[in-house]
Amino acid sequence: MRFEGRTAVVTGAAQGIGAATAELLRAQGANVVALDLKAGDGVVACDVTDKAQVDEVFAGIGRIDILVNNAGITRDNLLFKMPYDEWTAVLQTNLTSMFLCCQAAQRYMVKARYGRIVNLSSRSALGARGQANYAAAKAGVQGLTATLAIELGPYDITVNAVAPGYIATAMTAATAERVGSSPEEHQALAAERTPLRRVGRPEEVAAVIAFLASDEASYVSGQTLYVNGGAR
Ligand code: NDP
Repeated sequence: MRFEGRTAVVTGAAQGIGAATAELLRAQGANVVALDLKAGDGVVACDVTDKAQVDEVFAGIGRIDILVNNAGITRDNLLFKMPYDEWTAVLQTNLTSMFLCCQAAQRYMVKARYGRIVNLSSRSALGARGQANYAAAKAGVQGLTATLAIELGPYDITVNAVAPGYIATAMTAATAERVGSSPEEHQALAAERTPLRRVGRPEEVAAVIAFLASDEASYVSGQTLYVNGGAR
């Protein structure tokens, strides 16, 4: 019960890595506020690209000890045919949302002189064909993380990023469909390229997020931890 008495906000928590993280933090004692585009079973509606919504929802929560910025989308396309709105949608959802949520959460964390922020980056930050928008956003997440660690460190707020490799979720299933493959075939190809010879599960990313959100990681800040089965 390492999160007893802590309030955690997890964005994009209706499914995938966000849902696994919300479940784990809750199982370990946290009061979890799960946010996603649509309200649902235990999920509060909040479009994290919308500053007014973020400010209103975060103000309503009040105390925030842990923030997991997980909401994300892909809109893959090669540069020469990537529509401008796919570029901006991916930057807004994967990067600007984190600026908005961190800014809203730090109002409470700075006063409390305590906070744990974990941002979802990606292996794609190192470069990925067809993902100019996503790679730029996820590399931006690493820069944002390193900078907020410097600015918020004096208030005992740690800021870290997790950069997963291939994790079997709806997001990677959609990528498989886009390239005309089944999720299983697509995963098998990714597994071949991975030293551990398999793709990851949402729970395996959630476990690392929970570590960085815990007091065990109290002297870890400004880092990006790759969770990718050993791929270089
Ligand atoms: P999923 O698509 O399964 O889940 C993402 C969730 O975020 C969805 O419920 C989605 O809602 C929600 N979301 C999208 N836009 C918004 C928004 N504006 N406001 C609030 N919620 C929103 O993704 P994963 O679980 O696979 O990925 C989670 C994070 O991990 C993402 O940041 C992703 O980029 C990152 N990641 C994932 C990897 C993978 O292999 N799966 C690898 C590396 C990084 P809706 O479904 O309605 O759009």
